[in-house]
Amino acid sequence: MAEKQNVIGRFAPSPTGTLHLGSLYTALASYLDVRSKQGQWLLRIDDIDCSRNVDGASSAILYALDALGLHWDADVVYQSQHHEYYEAAFMQLSNNNMVYRCTCSRKNIDALIYPGSCREKVVLDVMSYAWRLKTDQRIISFYDEGQGLIHHALDTQHGDFIIKRKDRLFAYQLAVVVDDYLQGVTHVMRGCDLIDSTPKQIYLQSLLNLAQPCYHHLPILVDSFGAKLSKQTRAPVVDLTNPEWVLFRLLGLLSQNPPAVLAKASVSEILQWAISNWQPHVLIGLQAIKLNKC
Ligand code: GLU
Ligand code: ZN
Repeated sequence: MAEKQNVIGRFAPSPTGTLHLGSLYTALASYLDVRSKQGQWLLRIDDIDCSRNVDGASSAILYALDALGLHWDADVVYQSQHHEYYEAAFMQLSNNNMVYRCTCSRKNIDALIYPGSCREKVVLDVMSYAWRLKTDQRIISFYDEGQGLIHHALDTQHGDFIIKRKDRLFAYQLAVVVDDYLQGVTHVMRGCDLIDSTPKQIYLQSLLNLAQPCYHHLPILVDSFGAKLSKQTRAPVVDLTNPEWVLFRLLGLLSQNPPAVLAKASVSEILQWAISNWQPHVLIGLQAIKLNKC
């Protein structure tokens, strides 16, 4: 018998509002994937950017997941409590001479990719600056379980990227790499809109000597104009008074073909069916799923 793989997945929403159908789509897929592998499913609240956090959003997220029967293992982790770990990773990069101060603002960077203008510049403490990570000419290649083989040239497709912002907050790229490591995450399943961040994260993992998890980027739900469902595009609020219907609809959107009788089943029966019949390969290669009506 094959050795049991110790799978750890996670869902990591930012508490910028209540979960819309698009976030629940990712949550459900990652939950089903992990549970079908008898793994652990962890919840992390990505609340590092306090200026974007919305009061009450974290508890609304926990409430929504609970209502849908998506129960997580272990305590919820909050990025806002991990500052010291990000600092330690940052110091490691700094000690290896991999970071530098950058005073540029978005307005004065003409190119799409930051050209490294501040690499050799002397930037004094009193100035306002971000910290960038030095990149080189390597090609980052990875096999994405949803999107296939991906190759990115680090210098021409990414350039030196920010790991600590001018407001002293650690950037998403650094935080997510440190947290996935701290939580022992082996499987990252998330929306395709984040796939361009993955080479940056893999690069950071290699510099920090951290194991690289498996990546699986799912299609994202888009409205009839092709825009990602989000607060900005006024994604409708999900009606949690009928969680069975929400799950049934999500399973349809995940192309899992739930049998019609399942629409009348309980939350736990629906999840049981979905775990036993989970077919992630039907989504391979898809980047967007259009919602006909919201
Ligand atoms: N917190 C991020 C978001 O809500 C997702 C992080 C991740 O899955 O890597 O977009
Ligand atoms: Zn600069």
